[in-house]
Amino acid sequence: MHQHTPAQARRQFILTQAHRLPAFMSAVLIALAAAAATGAQEPATFGFSAAESARERALEQRFDTELNAVELRTWLQRLAAEPNHVGSPHDKANAEFVRDLFKQWGWDAQIEVFEVLYPTLKQHSLELIAPSRFTATLKEPPVAGDATSGRTDGLAPYNEYGADGDVTGELVYLNYGMEADYKALARRGIDVRGKIVIARYGDGWRGLKPKLAQEHGAIGCIIYSDPYDDGYFRGDVYPKGGWRPSEGVQRGSVLDMTVYPGDPLTPGVGATKDAKRLEASQARTILKIPVLPISYADAQPLLAALAGPVAPKSWRGALPLTYHLGPGPATVHLSISSEWGLKPLYDVIAKVRGADSPDEWVVRGNHRDGWVFGAWDPLSGQVAMLAEAKAIGSLLKSGWRPRRTLIYASWDGEEPGLLGSTEWAEAHATDLQHKAVLYLNSDSNTRGFLDAQGSHSLQHLLNDVAGAVKDPETGVTTQARLRAHMLVDGYEKDPSDKKEVAQDKARDARLAAAGGDLPIGALGSGSDYTPFLQHLGVTSLSIEYQGEDDQLGVYHSNYDSFDHYVRFGDPAFAYGVAEAQTTGRVVLRMADAQLLPLQFTGFADTVADYVTQLHELVDEKRGNATDLGRLLDQNAFGLAADPTRVVLPPPRAAAVPAVDFAPLDAVVARLKASARAYDEGYAKMLAGGRQFPAAQRRQLNGLLQGMEQKLTDPRGLPNRDWFKHFVYAPGRLTGYGVKTLPGVREAIDASAWDEANQYAVITAAVLSAYCEQLDQLTALLGRGG
Ligand SMILES: [Zn+2]
Repeated sequence: MHQHTPAQARRQFILTQAHRLPAFMSAVLIALAAAAATGAQEPATFGFSAAESARERALEQRFDTELNAVELRTWLQRLAAEPNHVGSPHDKANAEFVRDLFKQWGWDAQIEVFEVLYPTLKQHSLELIAPSRFTATLKEPPVAGDATSGRTDGLAPYNEYGADGDVTGELVYLNYGMEADYKALARRGIDVRGKIVIARYGDGWRGLKPKLAQEHGAIGCIIYSDPYDDGYFRGDVYPKGGWRPSEGVQRGSVLDMTVYPGDPLTPGVGATKDAKRLEASQARTILKIPVLPISYADAQPLLAALAGPVAPKSWRGALPLTYHLGPGPATVHLSISSEWGLKPLYDVIAKVRGADSPDEWVVRGNHRDGWVFGAWDPLSGQVAMLAEAKAIGSLLKSGWRPRRTLIYASWDGEEPGLLGSTEWAEAHATDLQHKAVLYLNSDSNTRGFLDAQGSHSLQHLLNDVAGAVKDPETGVTTQARLRAHMLVDGYEKDPSDKKEVAQDKARDARLAAAGGDLPIGALGSGSDYTPFLQHLGVTSLSIEYQGEDDQLGVYHSNYDSFDHYVRFGDPAFAYGVAEAQTTGRVVLRMADAQLLPLQFTGFADTVADYVTQLHELVDEKRGNATDLGRLLDQNAFGLAADPTRVVLPPPRAAAVPAVDFAPLDAVVARLKASARAYDEGYAKMLAGGRQFPAAQRRQLNGLLQGMEQKLTDPRGLPNRDWFKHFVYAPGRLTGYGVKTLPGVREAIDASAWDEANQYAVITAAVLSAYCEQLDQLTALLGRGG
């Protein structure tokens, strides 16, 4: 286990105690403290021998001195000055600006262009036509004190990749529009066939709302932001506070990214000029019904006009009205049409060639396009990445060269569906699979706590880095602050948390209390790591600071602006600098360590947890099915129901058969043993300061580079074979939310028992191949040592 006794804390102790001692003793202690400050006594940096650690630390200190909060602010103001969505003039200007900065800092930088299907709104309207009349404004007016909010050249509020359409129908209120909501609706005798549904943002990913509505037979879908979820119920609204004002609208993509992200016309290949393209009608990821996002000012008259049963308690939002389900008498007319042409994407790709191993790539990315001005999302992360790149440029000028090649990417077209990253990853798939040792992502960044998710073989490296970066608000390390946050979250227990969230928090608190590495989360989707991790099997990490912000209040709206960010985000850009220190260290260590700094026991323990969860999931399902059957046999629902209201009993659940987890249980035991053996060998190598001859080093790094790919299978996941990773995937029915061991877990979710058994075997085989390669690494590591 890694020892968490930061040298800084020890130094602090020595210095504060010094004045109580005789002068000569004080002098001795101060000298000792000075020795500690030079780094000689500090614990080694993970991935480096004692001698290498001192050099690495000195390099990182020089890196830190090149970071300047004022520059982050200046870049943010410039990049967010005008609308910068795909196809806008400022998007291209920003690409050129970023490319020129990289060049100025000594990087080899260019713009790589792709051509993607990107519908641009031509016309949209929404009217209530019965029982009264109301026309939705669909506008976000200027806000006092927000300089860019008065501009009129931004994207109007709409949902990218919804269908064109002109529909009229009765309205049904659907809560968050997730699968469980349809079940609750059915028990009240309501179905949505031929209706237009209105759902609120929140719970699951937005794209699932219209997708499920379409599958259930609705002819149109309206999504609105309820003040309960990100408006006045949470805090003061903009401009007084940071939360969503009554006319703020959340734009967003409804591309079915759970099937495949990226250009809908070129799945699996880069959308270059001459790429073979599908017809839009053949693209599985484009919706067939129209969908429109609206504000709560526009939603209120529609919801007020609904009659029918009163909505269940947990479905009610914070608008001053009684929430009814419908259908009708509220009847709406919804009309949308877009221009469906190809548009250019401008990815900025900047490189520094590795001095020793140019064919080992450390890839770092953050998107640059926003829905309108995008100060929070994504430019707060973009400017931290630029700060890193500039600091690395200064190190280059002083004569340092990274051992491995660095590739920095400023992605375009993330918002409509991870377009820029996916097309680039697909266009360079073979190179990436052979060469990429890391994909490191960030997106919005703000005040708060370190939020890291990714490949668990990087969990220890991340902890080591977080133990070396200071939290700007408290002065302790960002790791110490995160540990405290996890402990408090586990102690206080938020009663509004869903069961899975509460379980995760309890697990985090337990691990935080144990004192070792803090757990990192698993990646689902929602930013540019997806093509690297889940399609190509590149070891990936996402790092951001967040948790003390009101970002949700302006998410994807006209008010996600520079003025909002410097008031409610990170006013001093201190967390922008902390982000650059954190991600910069991960990059430098991955670039320079003799052998890639991966550790596998954290991964093995995590997979063991996932398998335990699968056991519990099946047991719980079986218990629920049995309990439900008993209640139905007793007619309990009929007797307990209020006879003046329609509430039907739930349908009977089929009996849950046994799932054979033996192959997974066996491979978990093996994985733990293989991981421990490798990690011990690696620690021994570092402690001994052993240097490998070039050929052996390349062989070891080649195998380490390929470890994550061992978790993929070319057959991919059921019904969505673009997703190849068998440990991490975005959920089919959660969207951004992760499903771990997805082949098995989603089969259990769907009560597809044959499939669950089949994928338990396939997943165990994948993990077993992973163990084999790990054992091979351990043997090589021990050879000649
Ligand atoms: Zn973003």
